[in-house]
Amino acid sequence: MAEINLGILGGGQLGSLLSTAAKKLGIKTTIFSDDINAPAQNFSDKFIFGKYDDKEKILEFINNVDIITYEFENIPYETLKEMNKLKPVLPKPSVNRLIQHRLAEKDFINKLNIRTTRYVLIEKKSEIETLKDFLPGILKTTTMGYDGKGQFPINKVEDIESLQIDFSKGYILEKLIKLKKEISVIITRFGINKFEIYEPIENTHQDQILKHSKIPAEINEKILEQSKEWATRISEELKYIGTLCVEFFIDRNDNLYVNEIAPRVHNSGHLTINAYNVSQFENHIRAVCSLEKISLKKLSNAKMINLIGNEIQPYRQNLKLNKNEFFFDYLKKEIKEKRKMGHLTTLF
Ligand code: ADP
Ligand code: MG
Repeated sequence: MAEINLGILGGGQLGSLLSTAAKKLGIKTTIFSDDINAPAQNFSDKFIFGKYDDKEKILEFINNVDIITYEFENIPYETLKEMNKLKPVLPKPSVNRLIQHRLAEKDFINKLNIRTTRYVLIEKKSEIETLKDFLPGILKTTTMGYDGKGQFPINKVEDIESLQIDFSKGYILEKLIKLKKEISVIITRFGINKFEIYEPIENTHQDQILKHSKIPAEINEKILEQSKEWATRISEELKYIGTLCVEFFIDRNDNLYVNEIAPRVHNSGHLTINAYNVSQFENHIRAVCSLEKISLKKLSNAKMINLIGNEIQPYRQNLKLNKNEFFFDYLKKEIKEKRKMGHLTTLF
């Protein structure tokens, strides 16, 4: 193929890191975002600002690119479906539709005989009174949630009295797990039984936001194999093309559960940029653009820390880094509390 122009829906840090990886492969990128300040425009070749249902802007975007992918899951299905009629959208729109709905996503995983936490659809508040079995639990919106947004812990039935929630929006109640650890597995699928998989990554959250990731994860052999097998099975069943991340919980009895699937590159995989010969971003681009699949080689152990809010400041002010430290600034204009501003990867 002549020069490829890859269209990316979404303009956050994942779009930035995808654009950087594309550049390395000689692929041009066009970012489409509904945020005029989308940081990824600092890294892409072109930027189109528009709402995800603005037909005119969307058409301009489609005409400008050869292949379309996305860096976040909350894009209207109709938009993806219409785009797919004119240019290939990968991963395919039906995958996105399934995964952007928590209930459909969990039903799908359970149908594969893969364990998730226990969950139940809640259509009105009073239903929770009869579901003591699911408490302590967490109410989660079925759509549009991320970084713990749209989640409400419910420890006991009385907690629901003070809840100000519009249940018509769709919620599930999920039983709380006694967490020992969280891990994620990132896999890039190129076609039938053709994939590259990274070793499980151990993750720590603060206020439901990812804070630290590291490899190797301190887990037993059985969990290591099981998590990779489940991630592989999920990507095969979805006939997925591109990079996908499966988030897992491990409880205190060493039971493994799938928490959720991200149909995209993932924050926990940022360390693959420095720790592997091919990063999750480059692999995503290789898969969606039908480029060569390269066998993964791990180069180093690694840990990554997200720089949230003001934590970015000392790094921006030229804090001296050691040779094994790699700092990434997402070039977000405004520093906000709880906002992921950059990250630091340390190899060891
Ligand atoms: P998001 O879509 O915001 O990432 P998650 O469902 O992954 O939402 O929840 C965010 C974090 O909250 C998880 O990574 C975990 O730390 C905690 N959490 C969510 N659900 C549960 C649960 N059922 N039991 C224990 N911890 C949970
Ligand atoms: Mg999550």
